[in-house]
Amino acid sequence: MRSLLFAANWKMHVGPAAARAYIDHFLAGYKPHPGRRVWFFPPATTLHTVAQELAGREDLAAGAQDVHWEPKGAFTGEISVPLAVEAGARAALVGHSERRHVFGETDADTARKVRAVLAGGLVPLLCVGEKLEEREAGKTLAVVQRQLTGALEGLETEALGKVIVAYEPVWAIGTGKNATPADAAQVHREMRAWLKGRGAASAVILYGGSVNLKNIAELLAEPELDGVLVGGASLEAATWLQLVSTPVS
Ligand code: PEP
Repeated sequence: MRSLLFAANWKMHVGPAAARAYIDHFLAGYKPHPGRRVWFFPPATTLHTVAQELAGREDLAAGAQDVHWEPKGAFTGEISVPLAVEAGARAALVGHSERRHVFGETDADTARKVRAVLAGGLVPLLCVGEKLEEREAGKTLAVVQRQLTGALEGLETEALGKVIVAYEPVWAIGTGKNATPADAAQVHREMRAWLKGRGAASAVILYGGSVNLKNIAELLAEPELDGVLVGGASLEAATWLQLVSTPVS
C-alpha cells in the first residue's frame, strides 16, 4: 500500500465561516483511503476552526502556514509554536517560497523554525525549490541542497526523520506550469539521497507547484512523489475532494 500525503495551503484565503462550510462539505464526501493523509494549512485566524472540525481524525489534520522560532515575546504579528499547538495544529510549513522570496526569510531562519517546530512537538513541512533563473542556469540541485543543508544540517537523526520535505520549484507555484513528473522525480531522488545520507532512510517528499485535477494522476503515477502540496486547487472543497480521491495504482 502506498502512503500519500495531500497538503492544502490556503495562503491568505478562507476565513473561519467559509472554512466551516468547506470542511463540512469535505467530510460529507471524503471516504478515507488506507495510507492516505490530508492536511490543511489555513490562515492563522482559521486554524482553530479547522482543527476543531477535524478533531479525532488521525488521517486529517490542520497546521500553521508559518511560525516564529521564539516560543513567546514581543513579536507583533507573529505566531509561536505553542500558540499554534493550542489552536490545534499538528504540523507547520517552514520556508514556503512566499516566506523566502516575498518576506525575505533566510536559510538561517528556516533552521531556527524547523528546530522550534520539532521542539514544540509539531511536524515541520519544509519547502525548498529553485527560482526560474536558477533552473535555467542549471543550479536546481545546488539550490535545493543549499536549502536542505541550511535548514536541516546538524539535526539528530531521530529529529531529521520527523521532517517532511516539499520540493516546490518557485517558477511552478501559482503559475499554471508544473514540473514534469520526470523532472520532479529527479530532484526528489537527489533530496532523498541527501536525507538518507544523514540517516533519514524513509523520508516523505512531496511535490508542489500548480498541481490540479488535470495533472494530479500523472504526477502521482511517479513513485518518487509521496504526495503533493497544493495552493490554488485546494481552495474549493469540491475540487480538493476530487484531488485527494485520485486513484493511484
Ligand atoms: C503552494 O502554495 O505551495 C503551491 C504549490 O501553490 P499552487 O498549487 O497554487 O501552485
